[in-house]
Amino acid sequence: MSAALELLCAAVAVVGLFLASTVFFDVVHLVLHRMLGSRSSVLRAIASPHDVHHRWIDRELRVNWEMQTANVWCHLLLEYVTQLAFTAVLALALPGGIVFGVAALQTLVFLMLLRDRGLDVNHRPQPIVEVARPMFFCPPAYHAQHHAHPDAFFSSYVKALDATVGTALDLRPQRVALVGGRSAFGRALRERLCAVGARDVIDLDTADDRRAGDVDVLVLCRPVPDLALEVEAYLRRAGRHQLPPEVWALVPEADVAVARHYYGDRRLLFRPLLVPDRADDAALARAARLSFFFILRGAHLPRTAWWGFPRWRFLSSKPARPGGVPKVRSRADVVLAA
Ligand SMILES: [Zn+2]
Ligand SMILES: [Zn+2]
Repeated sequence: MSAALELLCAAVAVVGLFLASTVFFDVVHLVLHRMLGSRSSVLRAIASPHDVHHRWIDRELRVNWEMQTANVWCHLLLEYVTQLAFTAVLALALPGGIVFGVAALQTLVFLMLLRDRGLDVNHRPQPIVEVARPMFFCPPAYHAQHHAHPDAFFSSYVKALDATVGTALDLRPQRVALVGGRSAFGRALRERLCAVGARDVIDLDTADDRRAGDVDVLVLCRPVPDLALEVEAYLRRAGRHQLPPEVWALVPEADVAVARHYYGDRRLLFRPLLVPDRADDAALARAARLSFFFILRGAHLPRTAWWGFPRWRFLSSKPARPGGVPKVRSRADVVLAA
């Protein structure tokens, strides 16, 4: 193997192992939150340094400056030491050069975070949270969701942990509205929502209902005659929330162009649920259960069937922006300008 290729392989290994060490911290992070919610005062006390991080940036995503120094000691240092511990274990099995490279990268990142006193891109005041686009890495909007809903969104750099254990959404603090909730899809979904303890599940005939203003997730459990009409009615009522409103919409293939637009629309997190018109009740119930499984794992385009799911056909289809719908670059542009 040439020296250049060897160097490239070593660099890839270092970056891969660095990301693995961040996933290890994510696991520790999840355990700390479970301990914080435990009935044991000893476990709560052991995990309490992480609570400092959440008091520094609270659920309303305000930075409490008086906690900044405490956050450096209780969170930044803890995260760094956890990652180093992972690297120390690697030293038992891997060449010294690779291990040194991983520790050097972890130290470099730690020093950069220290320089910013913790105020990295993930930790800045966010009066309006953008939609975290579907990707393998965690953008700032993703971590903001963890501060708003601390019992989910544990992943810090890559979404491996949340995608594995189903913590890419916490429905317990969420108000969910079902349009067409008496359909087979709606009944199966309601069962799942109740099982995970969604705060409130209400039925609406249409999104154009004043109660939609308090709703965090609108689910169109049957294909609607005019998707844009429903989505825009919901956005008028709930579009200014600090966190992005969500719409999960049953979409028959015929409606792909408008659904494809909303999938990329920056004003909301739109999760199309692709189910053909011809699906019977059993297939609809299966689609509800399967899509819910994948939504909890962070899917923006959740699978509704194991076989024949038209993922690529949907993603490669041409979006059609409905008439009168503005082209926007960010939620903040729309909400703060209003
Ligand atoms: Zn944080
Ligand atoms: Zn946390």
